[in-house]
Amino acid sequence: MIEVKDLHKTFKQQEVLKGISFKVEKGETVSIIGPSGSGKSTLLRCINGLEDYRDGSLTVEGQEVKDLTEKEIRELRKNLGMIFQHFSLLERKTVFENVALPLECFKYSKAEIEKRVMNLLELVGLADKRDAKPRNLSGGQKQRVAIARALALEPKVLLCDEATSALDPNTTKSILALLQDINEKMNI
Ligand code: ADP
Ligand code: MG
Repeated sequence: MIEVKDLHKTFKQQEVLKGISFKVEKGETVSIIGPSGSGKSTLLRCINGLEDYRDGSLTVEGQEVKDLTEKEIRELRKNLGMIFQHFSLLERKTVFENVALPLECFKYSKAEIEKRVMNLLELVGLADKRDAKPRNLSGGQKQRVAIARALALEPKVLLCDEATSALDPNTTKSILALLQDINEKMNI
């Protein structure tokens, strides 16, 4: 599914990724561990084509990411959902609207959006918060909204960049349990 071979990435003089190699098979969960500044986010950004890389190979479903056209990159990103430490929700939009956003970008019908968003909110346990704004949610609830949004386009992979760093231990447990559940039920 994802195959990284001897990947190198440099910012100006600084070599950030120095020959990274690993494989991720479908349905697998892989954790990347390292101190702050060791290049974890950079690696994820290389996987979804947000960063370029110099040497080595990085393929997603057999396609070399740095050789993809703009259009192919868009397709790739559809297949790679992503969540972040600070949730990255739009504060002015409701929970429903945040989750609906990727579907609107891809011109899904209103009826389809309504159905998919409500299914996703059920999945993450937030159906009753559909009209709430992010500021009225707890950290854990915000991350649940972000997870629902990341799953909206039915990705094959969910990239999680320190998805629980901003959360307390109990909330962390519940978010990790949700991610495991998604992995097992949806084979993401
Ligand atoms: P991590 O996510 O493991 O904390 P990062 O991937 O964010 O690490 O950063 C790895 C290194 O690359 C750091 O030294 C950081 O300063 C540097 N870096 C990250 N992004 C950029 C950028 N856009 N330009 C220059 N240097 C960067
Ligand atoms: Mg990081």
